[in-house]
Amino acid sequence: MRLPDPALVVLVGASGAGKSTWAQQHYRAEEVVSSDGLRGVVGSGPYDLDASADAFTLLDTIVAARLGRGLTTVVDTLGLDAERRRAWRAAARAAGLPAVAVLVATEAAECRRRNAARDRPVPAPALTAQLGKVREVGHELGVEGWDLVVPVADTTAPPPATPAPSPVPRADRTSSLGLRTVLQVSRFPWGDDPLAWLGGVARAADEAGFAGLALMDHLIQIPQVGRAWEPIPEPWVTLGALSGLGTGLELGTLCTPVTFRPAGVTAKAAATLSALTGGRAFVGIGAGWWEREHAAYGLPFPTAKERLDELERAIVTMRALWAKGTKAYDGDGVVLPETTGYPRPAGPVAVVVGGSGERRTLRIAARLGDACNLRTGEAEVVRHKVGVLHEHCAAVGRDPAEVAVTVLDLPVVGRDRDDVWRRVERHRGRTAAPAYAARTHAGTVADHRDRWAALAGEGVSTVFLATRDLDGPDDVLALAGLNA
Ligand code: GDP
Ligand code: MG
Repeated sequence: MRLPDPALVVLVGASGAGKSTWAQQHYRAEEVVSSDGLRGVVGSGPYDLDASADAFTLLDTIVAARLGRGLTTVVDTLGLDAERRRAWRAAARAAGLPAVAVLVATEAAECRRRNAARDRPVPAPALTAQLGKVREVGHELGVEGWDLVVPVADTTAPPPATPAPSPVPRADRTSSLGLRTVLQVSRFPWGDDPLAWLGGVARAADEAGFAGLALMDHLIQIPQVGRAWEPIPEPWVTLGALSGLGTGLELGTLCTPVTFRPAGVTAKAAATLSALTGGRAFVGIGAGWWEREHAAYGLPFPTAKERLDELERAIVTMRALWAKGTKAYDGDGVVLPETTGYPRPAGPVAVVVGGSGERRTLRIAARLGDACNLRTGEAEVVRHKVGVLHEHCAAVGRDPAEVAVTVLDLPVVGRDRDDVWRRVERHRGRTAAPAYAARTHAGTVADHRDRWAALAGEGVSTVFLATRDLDGPDDVLALAGLNA
């Protein structure tokens, strides 16, 4: 079961029904606002009924403040007062959040048993009254205007388990969702032993069932990922080092800007990597976008049109040099007097065209790419872009089945709900937490699998996964469930 998130969640149920237990199983402690808890804050303890009025005043203030910030709020009270429920719904409406009622309708006898076992049981007649009221309210919830009413029968059910990591990667490294995942490494917090760190990450990726490992290609660390003085190694050199580890990972860049190296040199690097890995090299290639790194390294940074023209010529050049034979090439604006390229690639080198530009980039992918790479994790965006890609395929006479759809997904992935929100707090900067969480689809492995299933449904075959806080091998292993 997945409830809307962020949302207002109002619990309804008798004492001992298991409301607090359910809330604790599904939400962070900070997200649950409990009348018992607040009696303990303003009164002598959770059962200090004399403190109820103060506790509810405080509760309403907290609910309003949290909802106003767009934060998930779970109201843990008996939930039997229609007027209070109406006010909380109105607060959710005002904040633009969905309002969910969770009816914890545990059997009366069980509630009585659990109540009797408590330090301070509710008097029997009071509990009987509560149980009668819960039955009534159960009928009313359906017509009160909740966005969702969820009956919860058994609060012992554990929260949705994350799928067990597959201990041995499948031969084709395709998950049960029908997706392959390539780990994109963009940060290199490698301390004083770069090779050991890189080796640890790559071996962990292999063990965790990733199909490949991609390195970002930048000359200066980009501000979206880190600070300018953090290391960002030359990718082809680094991939060469990774090729010697004996993993089964495909290795390549995402994305190499055409502006960095003449296309023939990129073709040479990729062919060499293919030879070293027995045919597991790929080239993600794009038009480049960051003017600063070009200026700093003395590289020209032509106009977007010229860079896209170059992207086309680069792919044509690479393919010509990788092809059999050494004969001259003349076509598509590329003239080469010979195409002598040894070593030959040991297998097909997939060309992944990075970028979502609808007029040119996707047309280049349709015409010349083995795959496009869309920078999104949203199924609706993928659907639209794939529509555009396929129009280009039709226009240039290419079979759309020959152009794989891949995405670059940059989510926050946590081990559990607490961990997810710790990571959101760590990385959100000045962005409000709910906005950052929404943009990064912040969630557990199970949450991301649900989203990825939708991506697969839109025809995505490979997800390039870039998590922002990949500090080392342990963080890679924690992602294994995505590949199961
Ligand atoms: P609340 O009064 O509705 O908030 O109920 P609690 O969540 O505090 O649960 C009351 C008591 O029942 C606690 O001692 C819980 O540990 C226990 N409890 C809650 N849910 C279950 C359950 O599903 N099975 C069992 N056996 N005990 C439960
Ligand atoms: Mg409780």
